Amino acid sequence: MRVTGGCLCGAIRFEGDAEPQFQVTCYCTDCRRTSGAGHAAMMGFAYDAIRIAPGAREFASKADSGNDIVRAFCPTCGSGIYSRTTGMPHLIFLRASALDDSSLFAPQIAVWAARAPAWDAVPEHLPAFAEAPVGAQ
Ligand SMILES: [Zn+2]
Ligand SMILES: [Zn+2]
Repeated sequence: MRVTGGCLCGAIRFEGDAEPQFQVTCYCTDCRRTSGAGHAAMMGFAYDAIRIAPGAREFASKADSGNDIVRAFCPTCGSGIYSRTTGMPHLIFLRASALDDSSLFAPQIAVWAARAPAWDAVPEHLPAFAEAPVGAQ
């Protein structure tokens, strides 16, 4: 698929022609804090398949899964752009919230579902893991 997107102010744009390899919603506490909602929505693509404009700011932290995670955001407008995890180092996870066409995102699983707040419940049709399966954030 053709995937394009970017932050609110337009400074950080991304694009690529690739099929997503892993589409996930994550309800972990860190994703909730950075998402502005109860969960983060992420599309994992081969790292080399996505081109991203320079200038995003990266924040590194240790996930509850034990993985090291980097989350990138626009330093001007604060929009989340992508994340990377040592659990799946060959992928870059674009934030579905940054897509130009939000309908491109089709989540396959939910992780850390046990932490979903009542006001942002995991959809019933979505396979859900209470915590994180191997490799997930
Ligand atoms: Zn921006
Ligand atoms: Zn998470």
